[in-house]
Amino acid sequence: MHIIENFTTNNENYKAKQIVKMRGIMLHSVGCPQPDPEVFVRIFNDPSGKPNGRKVGVHAFVGSDGRVFQTMPWNFRAWHCGKGPNGSGNSTHIGIELVEPRTIKYVGGSAFQDNNPAASRAFVEATYKVGVELFSHLCKQHNFDPLADGVVVSHAEGHRLGIASNHGDVEHLWKVYGLTMDRFRQDIWSAMNAVSPFKPSAPAATAAPAPKLVEESVLKFNLLGQRLDIPGAIVDGKAFVRARLLVEGLGFCIDMTDGVIVVREKSSADK
Ligand SMILES: [Zn+2]
Repeated sequence: MHIIENFTTNNENYKAKQIVKMRGIMLHSVGCPQPDPEVFVRIFNDPSGKPNGRKVGVHAFVGSDGRVFQTMPWNFRAWHCGKGPNGSGNSTHIGIELVEPRTIKYVGGSAFQDNNPAASRAFVEATYKVGVELFSHLCKQHNFDPLADGVVVSHAEGHRLGIASNHGDVEHLWKVYGLTMDRFRQDIWSAMNAVSPFKPSAPAATAAPAPKLVEESVLKFNLLGQRLDIPGAIVDGKAFVRARLLVEGLGFCIDMTDGVIVVREKSSADK
């Protein structure tokens, strides 16, 4: 993906130069079988200031080949989604258009027939991938969380949120090829948080330090006036000895009963 700055300075929307604080990004699809994003750049930069006679504008057109034509600065208010009962996404959302394959034909509203399903699918998947790259770039740049509610939305979702006109894009196209906005948001998040497979792994956490000194030794005890030599060990200056050897050295028995270590006097049952 690479962004080509190609501002549509003739456009009335561009000339308005309303600076706004963006809170998210809205995804559109152009709604006609025109795969070349440069065609839209020319239409949107028409000297009349009104693309096809309409007062519209958008921030960028995304091609299938990785080219993204940016048509106005990201913080300009763009006229891309109209409005709804809760306001206008134009004031809060960057507007991005994906181009569409020439292999489809619209037959009324958002319905279309697909004249070459394999080619159409490849094209739509390609623009999807470039879209993921562009959105992850913009989310990083603007500190947007793509998984948060209302941040990355389609035009159709914007309508359901009450901030956009009643359009079906991009789902009207994507649903035919198994693509969804939920997957798009997840893929943006993954692209933002990806760890390169070639990144060397971090050095292992410091291993537990080995005991500084382990020294087997015969430990001399004086227990209740009784001298005992019992084999044990010195580890880091601390003496360790088996409890059994200590207890038995004193003439007692040691057992474990129900999880409790019991020290008892020898009975006749013990040899
Ligand atoms: Zn739209």
